Amino acid sequence: MYVGIKSHVGHVRSNNEDAYFVRPPLLAVADGMGGHDAGEVASAAAVAALAQCTWTETDPGELAERMLHSVRAAQRRIEEASEGNASWRGMGTTLTAAFFGKKHIHIAHIGDSRAYLWREGTLRLLTTDHSVASELVRAGQLNEQDAARHPQRHVLTRAVTAGVAPEVDMIMAERGPDDTLLLCTDGLNAHVTDKEIGAVLASGGAPQAAADELVRLALERGGSDNVTVIVARSTRPEVIR
Ligand code: MN
Repeated sequence: MYVGIKSHVGHVRSNNEDAYFVRPPLLAVADGMGGHDAGEVASAAAVAALAQCTWTETDPGELAERMLHSVRAAQRRIEEASEGNASWRGMGTTLTAAFFGKKHIHIAHIGDSRAYLWREGTLRLLTTDHSVASELVRAGQLNEQDAARHPQRHVLTRAVTAGVAPEVDMIMAERGPDDTLLLCTDGLNAHVTDKEIGAVLASGGAPQAAADELVRLALERGGSDNVTVIVARSTRPEVIR
């Protein structure tokens, strides 16, 4: 598998509270939140929970169960850490983890980070944003344009955090032969549209070049948030048969 990763603090924030996990076929991004260094602690705890598991291809039900188990373990880690340190109370993180298997793609998702699938020239968003503005759009009470400016567009309705059993979306898709999977934190889609993401992936460069270019675009347009991008594909793009 070919994987490109780029994570940047951005131009506004002083620290990078995003974390990522790359142990193919498992890939994940986590976007932490909380005062002081709490956001970093929370996203790192989520990623550390994923590292405790063995990620090999097995039956789909078993894999989904393993991913769910890892999210629950992440929640317990965050809970324990926040109980031991008053300045970490209320911390939490998004978590979007993808098992990019040979037959299936499994995604465990909570929060407003995203997973996209690029297949046969079409970009598909696989995840749903768990944010106040996005929930209003889905309820038909807000249109997409107003959602992009809504004051609560970054307020999460779901996260991995203390005191709340994580409500995880589990998504499964069949694998296509030339699939490219993209995971990102909201620092990317704050500045870069789906159409632009598709254009970068369509150029057919190596995954690292695509990740670099997408983060470069986000920074060029203000870099208002931490931004993390993972691009993965199983076929070498430059290969000549
Ligand atoms: Mn963010």
